[in-house]
Amino acid sequence: MALKINDECTACGLCEPECPVQAISEGDPIYVIDSSKCIECEGHFDEPQCVAVCPVGAPVPDPDHPKK
Ligand code: SF4
Ligand code: SF4
Repeated sequence: MALKINDECTACGLCEPECPVQAISEGDPIYVIDSSKCIECEGHFDEPQCVAVCPVGAPVPDPDHPKK
């Protein structure tokens, strides 16, 4: 499943450089995850790095994009 960033996001930008597949980009008004790129960090880290670094818990599973 891909993750998405919910509207708790404060656009702090901490998550963007942590994504191993460059799936995160700055949007307006909040950051966005490209669901076609997000691999939940599988093969790179033990846990999703955007979740690990986000101070407000904005990245959450996106039920619209289950694991392929
Ligand atoms: S879960 Fe991993 S691959 Fe997906 S957006 Fe977050 S940091 Fe990137
Ligand atoms: S770390 Fe969290 S609050 Fe900061 S830009 Fe990413 S999703 Fe938004």
